[in-house]
Amino acid sequence: MRARSDMRSVDEHRRVVADLITPRPALTVPLADALGLALAADVVAPLSLPGFDNSAMDGYAVLAGDIAAATDSAPVQLPVAEDIPAGRTDIPTLTPGTAHRIMTGAPLPFGADTVVPVESTDAGVHTVTIREAKPVGRHIRRAGEDVTEGTTVLHAGQVVTPAALGLAAALGLSELSVIPRQRVLVVSTGTELVTAGTPLQPGQIYESNGAMLAAAVRDAGGEVVASPMTGDDVEAFTATLRAHAGDADLIVTTGGVSAGAYEVVKDALGPGERVEFVKVAMQPGMPQGAGTWEGGTPIVTLPGNPVSALVSFEVFLRPALRAAMGLTDTQRPRRTAMLTEDLTSPRGKRQFRRGVFDPVTDTVTGYGPPASHHLRWLASANCLLELDEDTAEVAAGSRVQVWDLR
Ligand code: AMP
Ligand code: MG
Repeated sequence: MRARSDMRSVDEHRRVVADLITPRPALTVPLADALGLALAADVVAPLSLPGFDNSAMDGYAVLAGDIAAATDSAPVQLPVAEDIPAGRTDIPTLTPGTAHRIMTGAPLPFGADTVVPVESTDAGVHTVTIREAKPVGRHIRRAGEDVTEGTTVLHAGQVVTPAALGLAAALGLSELSVIPRQRVLVVSTGTELVTAGTPLQPGQIYESNGAMLAAAVRDAGGEVVASPMTGDDVEAFTATLRAHAGDADLIVTTGGVSAGAYEVVKDALGPGERVEFVKVAMQPGMPQGAGTWEGGTPIVTLPGNPVSALVSFEVFLRPALRAAMGLTDTQRPRRTAMLTEDLTSPRGKRQFRRGVFDPVTDTVTGYGPPASHHLRWLASANCLLELDEDTAEVAAGSRVQVWDLR
């Protein structure tokens, strides 16, 4: 697949962006904040689970030998000597020839070797009538049968799921060491932009890239430091970056990188600075930039057209951010599907069209025009159709590559 020789290939720019974004050092966070993050260290069980022998049923702790003859027609009666609800901390000792009423999760009394479920008894409080014999060890959860103290129960690199979090909580842990979220500053540029709530003057539009990319950052697992907007003014743009970049691991800008005048991002970061502005052989999303800002903070400059901005985020930033957070599924799931229509694509550029993938018929239909300002179509698409650099025409019925955004 050959990109136009006067442009940087998509794969090359993806590498450049990925190399810029590096993991933060491991951080110990409260359990709840670890959800969805990769563990930075193995978790070794500080205790066993269960921590003590306990009952798996509501019933009666007894000696199996005392009820060996019990049947429906010839039940055995035992005095109930103790009542052991869950949470009782003084563990009694069972005297042979007696029963202890016991609840699920309550500690098994010393000396007892089986549990009779309440359903096989008359549920007596002072005396219990037992209608069924039980072998030794029945309905007892043994200490350590789930987890033995000292074993590695979660591994570095594993992503914390609700279940993993539950296990850590069961082990008495209140914190986990994780690879922290990337903190991203999203800066929108454009003198034409205003925020919701302000009436529009002719020529003005509501700012949308900031809200959209901030959401995309969070959706990718990242954290948004701030999402300010500035006009096409180098001083104001630079001041905005300085005001917010201190906490950021990455700066993402939109707009101001094309070939026109008033290209504020290019003007502020261009020649002499450590940002390289390039044309990437891709549609949409041709004008791109990447480098570092003051203090070495990585900066990736996306084009301003909303579709270009979001597709660029999908192609370059989402995988790089997820990789830097140690998350395993850095790529959207890829599949092929049968195209329902003829499509054209610019030769020498990789095209990403918005599409609707139908898993039932295994087909994909291009959705909306390829133009990069049609946000409405993007909002209802469920996939990106990827047409490679060598492709100029694709006929209906061909199988094409699809990025599943669902
Ligand atoms: P630019 O890349 O700055 O030339 O912008 C390209 C197009 O995207 C123009 O039509 C801009 O008005 C539009 N645009 C740029 N930034 C934003 C934004 N943050 N929200 C909505 N539209 C934008
Ligand atoms: Mg602009």
